[in-house]
Parts: sequence; C-alpha cells; structure tokens
Amino acid sequence: MTCISNLYFYYDEKLDIIKIAHCCLDRTYNILAEIPTDKFYNMPDDDFYNLLKSIAFTHPTECRGSRCECFWTQTHEIITIHVAISKECNLSCPMCYIKNGHHNSPKRKKLYLDVIKKLSNFEFVVLKLTDWGEGFIYLDEILDIMKNYKYCKKMHIITNCTLVTEDLLKKIVETCEYCTLEVDIDALSSNIYERIRVGAKYSDFKKNLALILKYKKIYPEKFGTIIHFTEQDNNINMFERLKVEKFAKIINSEYIIDKQWFSDSPIYEN
Ligand code: SF4
Repeated sequence: MTCISNLYFYYDEKLDIIKIAHCCLDRTYNILAEIPTDKFYNMPDDDFYNLLKSIAFTHPTECRGSRCECFWTQTHEIITIHVAISKECNLSCPMCYIKNGHHNSPKRKKLYLDVIKKLSNFEFVVLKLTDWGEGFIYLDEILDIMKNYKYCKKMHIITNCTLVTEDLLKKIVETCEYCTLEVDIDALSSNIYERIRVGAKYSDFKKNLALILKYKKIYPEKFGTIIHFTEQDNNINMFERLKVEKFAKIINSEYIIDKQWFSDSPIYEN
C-alpha cells in the first residue's frame, strides 16, 4: 500500500467528468478516480469522503514520478489537494496551455467552487489553487468557503500577481493559518514581461508584488513565497533568468525554474 500525499482534481469537459489523480512533483499524473459530474452532485458528502480516503490509501500502481513526495513523507495522510478546475484568467499569454480564450463557463465555475465546498470536512493540510488559470480568480468566494473548513487551514495559490489586492491579502490573513503565494515571474524587464503577460501592465504587476512583500514582512508567520520562472521563447536569455533568481534571493523566497512550459500530461489537452 502506498500513501498518496498529493491529490489533483481536474475536469474533462468533453466527457463531463471530474478526474482525481495522484500528482507527483515532476507532473506525472496517475488517474485514481473519475466521477461523472451528475454523480458528483448526487454524491452524499460521506461517500465523497470515503472515496477520497480509499483512493488515497490503496494506490494500485507504483508511482512513475521521479520526484514523488509519497516516498519522502510516508506520513499516511493527504497533504495537498490541488483543485485545478477553473480555467479563468484575466491575461492571454501566448504560450499558455489554456487555448481559445480564458473564460470559464458558468458550469466550470460552479464545479470549481462545489469541489472546494465538498472538501470542507475532509482531513488534509493544504488547498492548492490552480494550475489552469489565475489563482486569485474567485478567491473572495473561496475564502468564504474556507472559513468553514474543519481541518485544512493552509493555502497555496499560483498567481500571475495582477489581481492581488490589499482586501484579499487581509482576508487571507483572517482565514488561513498560512498561505504560500507562488508568483509566476517569467521576466523582470518591462518589455519582456509585457510580451509574455499579454494584458498585464508591468507597473501594476510591480505594485502588487510590493503589496505581497509588504504583507510577508508584516506577517512572516502567515505568508511564504515561491518565485516561479519558466523558460520560454520570449525570455530565453541568461540575463532574465539570473535577474529573477537574484530577486528571489533578495526577498528570501523559494525559487523554482521550469525548463519547459508545456506538460506532457494529457490533462493539459482538454
Ligand atoms: S497568467 Fe498563466 S494562466 Fe493566465 S494566460 Fe498567462 S500563462 Fe495562462
């Protein structure tokens, strides 16, 4: 029996099913369960709870991931639940895997929030948002849901940093014990930044980033940051990467560098 420490929720729009996968750190996904949405909506909370418990502790196959947390932790608990159902984003970056616009259908939004609601009584440690779109989308509503969470009090939000507001940061402080903000910074030169983050203004990005750093300074016990840099055609020069890396060091942040944008995983195709 292998313990699963990361569960990853995503939605297959063509088949209208929610897929639950084990997500390894190197983005290897093993699908563990598929729930048609009508079944999901009719599923009593206890059945949902039991399903998650059962898949978490009866992982049938050897994980194929090379950086699998499961083998590190062996804690026999679900640490992170990663809900990547929303595809909504306010930007239109050319390299993004969300093709054909970035607008959620009302159905996808409802599903995203309903999955988060259904997790209210489940024992896990960190709620992670989102891998598809912008993590601050719907954050106000999500924090309202999270106020009623029985166990999970920590969040990990992947963000392009353009929708960060003081009110939302305050609400995170009130709601969460700890929040990791994973900020995608693929450039720190304004011309390269605006070529990559189409729809964003570099000046707004810098202002919001400063706001995050202000809150991290005031509440060091509440906020952590990860600076995420992804190499791509527009920024593939050592200088840009070193600039971001240096910035991460100055602000005492974790730093991740990805050498490729597109994941091989089939989940990015739908
Ligand atoms: S900010 Fe991220 S999710 Fe949004 S369009 Fe750009 S790459 Fe895609």
